[in-house]
Amino acid sequence: MVGDPTSPTTFNRVQTKLFLILALAGYVFAKNEHYIGWKSYFVGPPIKEHVKTLVILGEKMDLDYLSPPHPEREAIVLVPPRKQLEFIKTLKNFTIKYRSHAENVKATLDRDDERIRNWTNIISRNGGAVTPYNSYLCLDAIYGYMHHISMRHKKTVTMVTAGHSFEGRPLKYLKISTTNFHKKSKNIIFVDAAIHAREWIAPPVVTWIIHKLTDDVTEPNMLNDFDWILMPVVNPDGYEFSFSEKRLWRKTRSTNTDPQSFRCPGVDGNRNFDFAWGATGSSSNPCSDTYRGNRAFSEVETRTVRDILNTYSYRIYMYISMHSFGSMILYPWGHNSSDSKYSFNLHLASSAMVKAIRNASLPHFPDYVNGNSGKTMFYTAGGAADDYAHNLGIPYSYTFELPGLSGGMHGFELHPMHIKQVCKETWIGLVAGITKATKLTEKDRS
Ligand SMILES: [Zn+2]
Repeated sequence: MVGDPTSPTTFNRVQTKLFLILALAGYVFAKNEHYIGWKSYFVGPPIKEHVKTLVILGEKMDLDYLSPPHPEREAIVLVPPRKQLEFIKTLKNFTIKYRSHAENVKATLDRDDERIRNWTNIISRNGGAVTPYNSYLCLDAIYGYMHHISMRHKKTVTMVTAGHSFEGRPLKYLKISTTNFHKKSKNIIFVDAAIHAREWIAPPVVTWIIHKLTDDVTEPNMLNDFDWILMPVVNPDGYEFSFSEKRLWRKTRSTNTDPQSFRCPGVDGNRNFDFAWGATGSSSNPCSDTYRGNRAFSEVETRTVRDILNTYSYRIYMYISMHSFGSMILYPWGHNSSDSKYSFNLHLASSAMVKAIRNASLPHFPDYVNGNSGKTMFYTAGGAADDYAHNLGIPYSYTFELPGLSGGMHGFELHPMHIKQVCKETWIGLVAGITKATKLTEKDRS
């Protein structure tokens, strides 16, 4: 069998080497120099009135909330060196509680990088394959995995290059179908991730879904009854930038939306969709992390998601945008906290997901909650993907905030040993949610 490229052992060995090289390549330049002198703080939990104050403060000072202000839990905010004094003074003026989160953001990020390197080494030393669903891998490794899968499962998997990002990287997704997408009566499940670059746990979850529909099918009805569109990295420029330059980068990398964009590139993709665009919860300032762009769909990355949603809206049954962190399943309407006419079903299906995830989760993981996006998060945001999809008539439209654990910068980079756990429990939740939604639809029809 030695040398037989089709044998699983050889495939795994080749795959391991390939992923290892690509994964480590992503870390060569990650020195986190940008974060010298930066600190992060826990703030609150604020009383309800303070939530608004903190949101306004964030906008005024261009602060980056790693975890947004909320009356029931502490926010986490990242503060650059030149704004430390003003930030502390303002909190004291408003008598808002705060404490240190990371005293030295650069050192914390360096430790996180080291931890990923060690983790990848442990997997390969133990003879395992480094895959996009058990480590944090750069774009090439994720695309490499998608290519392998499309070659190994030619009958069911098609790789699509939908276009190119602002910086010219291909925008790729997989279509998975036992009927080659020809059966128009079949419902589609569309899952995407990493429209926000730094949310590294999101692409592994989507690649795990790919794995569960190809190499390890344990729920054949999920494969047979539905067509799937799976896009692990919506924002490849931002994602790569978060590996090579600024770990906590959130936006795209475009420089053509405003004269200031050369100094402050990028748009928040999840504020750039053409539904209630610019209404609330986004900024017109290109230097803000929630900059909405100079017009709806200014970004080629969001236009790509739009085109998938528009093309298949008549049969996309469920759309899920994977984000992190917060252990939440959120549903429309997020732009104004009002209930969708479909909110009863949206709630029941997401409750089934939460229940299944709780049963499959670990005791030290935060408990999942579900609810209307605006009401659960205590802030509203226009121009988001889930609202746009729901407004097209897609009944089950969700934003997942995948788990993060507190301490260090762990929120966006929970220990890589937990990646597979998050992948597994999210898939279990997804299966439960789709099953529940299907029953609800049948009930509504009868
Ligand atoms: Zn996000």
